[in-house]
Amino acid sequence: MSTSRLAWYSHEICFWHDPGPGSGYVPVGPGVEPLRQFAVDPDLRRAEGLAKASGVTDRFTALTPTPASDEDLLLVHVPDHIERVEAASAAGAGDAGVYAYVNYHSAQAARLAVGACVQAATGVLDGRFDRAYCLVRPPGHHAEPDRAMALCLYNNLAVAARAAQRQGARRVLILDWDVHHGNGIQRTFYEDPDVLYISVHQEGLFPAASGRVLETGAGAGAGSTLNVPLPAGSGHGAYLAVMDRIVEPAARAFGPDLILVAAGVDASGHDPMGRMLCTSRTFHSMTSTMCRLADELTGGRIVFAHEGGYSAWYQPMLVLGTASAIAGLPAPQDPFLHSLEHLPGQRLQRHQDRVIAHLEDHHPLLAGSAPPAPAAGPSAVAGRSAPGTGVPT
Ligand SMILES: [Zn+2]
Repeated sequence: MSTSRLAWYSHEICFWHDPGPGSGYVPVGPGVEPLRQFAVDPDLRRAEGLAKASGVTDRFTALTPTPASDEDLLLVHVPDHIERVEAASAAGAGDAGVYAYVNYHSAQAARLAVGACVQAATGVLDGRFDRAYCLVRPPGHHAEPDRAMALCLYNNLAVAARAAQRQGARRVLILDWDVHHGNGIQRTFYEDPDVLYISVHQEGLFPAASGRVLETGAGAGAGSTLNVPLPAGSGHGAYLAVMDRIVEPAARAFGPDLILVAAGVDASGHDPMGRMLCTSRTFHSMTSTMCRLADELTGGRIVFAHEGGYSAWYQPMLVLGTASAIAGLPAPQDPFLHSLEHLPGQRLQRHQDRVIAHLEDHHPLLAGSAPPAPAAGPSAVAGRSAPGTGVPT
């Protein structure tokens, strides 16, 4: 993959977003000794540092995003929501929603995070490059149209998907392998037959009552939501089985023009927020699979955006594994791998297999009972052909 075909979006201000003093995900208050909240971004800067030090970012064209406009944000969010984020940030501190704490720089960082994803999506649709990686903060997938939630201020990839539709993409696949369920992405597109949302997450983690197998879309969007709630303790084998048996056939059945990946790395075996066992090899393998699928289905158009990731020491290696796969490089040498790869839970377990088998048999897109209807008319995406093959036979 030549350098000119790969884009790397990041911005210094994204690293200046800080949810303030706290401990873990809880702000300072009764019983909470000040330490720091997760998603303080020396960690993410370190991730970019490792990618640079390893030479992997040399394979990409480095691009600086411009902030998303109100017009972009309003593709998904209501005006009151934008005003709340701006006001909380201008005040220098506070909660812009539900567990969505901000500092003075957060509103600008959030617009830059959305801007990166929108510009990456439109860039691949224009044919300026094939693959893009957005190393952005704050994350986005919990943010709903009318409220910020759980570190997420604006829904970066939901806005990018809407911007892609505005640009002529007929069908967009969003795959989300963050360990939490992307309730904001799901809610945005729940009745949209032209955006397939697939989430692979830890069952019952956060939001607790969100992301169940029976949530499959509604109205015209029936069948266009596909939740894979894996039991806690799932590892490399379970995630690769999901890719092989759920994601690949669902993507082929759907026939997207563009693939967006919410590429959180908090399903790792060292992450404090989840109870999964993934390694850098898992993320490298899943990323490679998605790039191959893009080559097969979308003319190569694919955008990855960082979401969650809270292990200070392991996150950089997980980002490196993801970025290496985007660049077509082998999985990196991982000094932390020995602590995870031998664990017996890394193999697909029977109770994990049952979730996958249930979806194979019952989800409308996989069982072929009621797939979403394809939109009328050809794709308006410029350049390379987009198969857009529609529904399964
Ligand atoms: Zn997460």
